[in-house]
Amino acid sequence: MIITVASGKGGTGKTTVAVNLALSLDNVQLLDCDVEEPNAHILLNPKITQTKPVHSLVPVISEDKCVYCGKCAKFCEFNALFVAPKTVLVFPELCHSCGGCMLVCSKDAITETKRKIGVIKKGNSNNIDLVYGELNVGEAMAVPLIKAVKAEINPSKNVVIDAPPGTACSLVSSVHKTDYCILVTEPTPFGLHDLKITVQVLKNLGVPMGVIINRAEVGDKKVYDYCKQENIPILMEIPFSKKIAELYSRGVPFVTDMPEWKNKFQEMQKTIQRCQK
Ligand code: SF4
Ligand code: SF4
Repeated sequence: MIITVASGKGGTGKTTVAVNLALSLDNVQLLDCDVEEPNAHILLNPKITQTKPVHSLVPVISEDKCVYCGKCAKFCEFNALFVAPKTVLVFPELCHSCGGCMLVCSKDAITETKRKIGVIKKGNSNNIDLVYGELNVGEAMAVPLIKAVKAEINPSKNVVIDAPPGTACSLVSSVHKTDYCILVTEPTPFGLHDLKITVQVLKNLGVPMGVIINRAEVGDKKVYDYCKQENIPILMEIPFSKKIAELYSRGVPFVTDMPEWKNKFQEMQKTIQRCQK
């Protein structure tokens, strides 16, 4: 089963939930798809066994074939190409590697070359197989790297995916083809605002979901009312606890020091599995 842990905004405790869930289950693979700021490995301190580069494809223009007709630049909705009277400029960092410019060029003047955008790292810690991506600094295209991390999914494992914050393409590619999404939120107006947007995205994608309320008790009841109204189950509440906060500040996943929480995460996974049947 593949479970994605997501949140509308950063700082809600998404990675904490993903790591603690992974530590509570057997036969687990954890994929950290938050490739701009992967944190799961900081909490798990894995032994890295493999590092491999990830590339995207960008166009290369053969000036001897190009007639500077401008069709490729007109096609590119990302403005990654600019055709001047005697040259074509390529802006690789804007290119989404769609390959469309090659298709529209009637002079076969476009080929593709590989551009390194980051790496994926694989390792193991506490019997968890961890895979995470590191996007190059300043690189805007996270999706190809997220796809590379997800290509490592081992279907024989209980897979937990730590999704990037936000509701854009990176979230969509993280939840693509997952069985269930856990949304981590806080019971505050900001939490509710971002939760509503993320719920809408997941509904559009048809991904079943449930909510974990982190730092429960700090805010109001509106998140609870919203979940009830939308028929979204509240899977777990994690209290605003001094001990959990203190463990977090030391980089210690709280289930390692509070083993009673392992049972709660295991029960939650069983609930999710029942929802799937
Ligand atoms: S479509 Fe082909 S020929 Fe036309 S400007 Fe682009 S590369 Fe050159
Ligand atoms: S591959 Fe797609 S995104 Fe990249 S330059 Fe060509 S048309 Fe634009």
